[in-house]
Amino acid sequence: FLDVSLVRPSPPQAGLGAVLVFHDLTEFKRLDKVRRDFVANVSHELRTPLTSIKGYAETLMAEKPFREGQPRRFLDVILKNANHMSRMVDELLGLARIENDRQPAVKSPVRASDCLRAALRECAALSAERRVAVESLLPPDGPVVLADAGRLTQVLRNLVENALKYGPEGSAVTVSHHPGDTGVIFRVEDDGPGVPEAERLRVFERFYRVDRPRNKGEGGTGLGLAIAKHIVERHGGRIWAEQARPPRTGAAFCFSLPEAP
Ligand code: ADP
Repeated sequence: FLDVSLVRPSPPQAGLGAVLVFHDLTEFKRLDKVRRDFVANVSHELRTPLTSIKGYAETLMAEKPFREGQPRRFLDVILKNANHMSRMVDELLGLARIENDRQPAVKSPVRASDCLRAALRECAALSAERRVAVESLLPPDGPVVLADAGRLTQVLRNLVENALKYGPEGSAVTVSHHPGDTGVIFRVEDDGPGVPEAERLRVFERFYRVDRPRNKGEGGTGLGLAIAKHIVERHGGRIWAEQARPPRTGAAFCFSLPEAP
């Protein structure tokens, strides 16, 4: 996109004519589109559970005779949708906070295994519910990276949570690390369906979900990976999805972080 403006040369001199100035608006237009898409997405994502809450609440108010257990089931749906909305608002606020923070991440030497332990504590209930064991190949004297410990824990939690959600019940998740060109690479691998190659970049976009109808029951917000990407990039690292390596058979979510000197 080009915007052209005509300006007089200054100071105006006889015989010099005019100056044409071309402004490249491509980036401006792109950001404007991202902003508009975002507002449309948020509205849509919040309206879906809201419609369901309204529908069930109205049915309960209608004072028609109910079948046994029906009001309770309706209230369950209302609560589930309200919880989903509340989680989405929390994650949106978290994402906005990360995006608006112009300061570079506050980094100090952090032992990755400590962050993983904290992340696993937060995922313990989901791990038990899904009967998926998480195997950590990060030894206590393992890599020390330059990071904000709370943020690194959040990235690991988001990736492990996904591995637990998308892996089949009774399967396993492996968290490991190896040295890379620009620091330490962490890998979270599962036995789930994996991420099709064509979707491997898009899953990091806000609200993007592979195979939406199938994921509906999982109650995800589609924001976890976008948050993880922001955090990793603000640390000077990179995050990507690929095929897991044996013995795991599903997705591998990998990210790099600079190693502490
Ligand atoms: P959600 O809340 O939907 O899990 P995320 O941003 O964490 O949102 O993930 C975006 C999408 O990426 C998911 O909806 C899912 O389709 C896909 N995805 C994420 N992690 C995995 C995984 N471990 N295995 C397969 N697909 C995954």
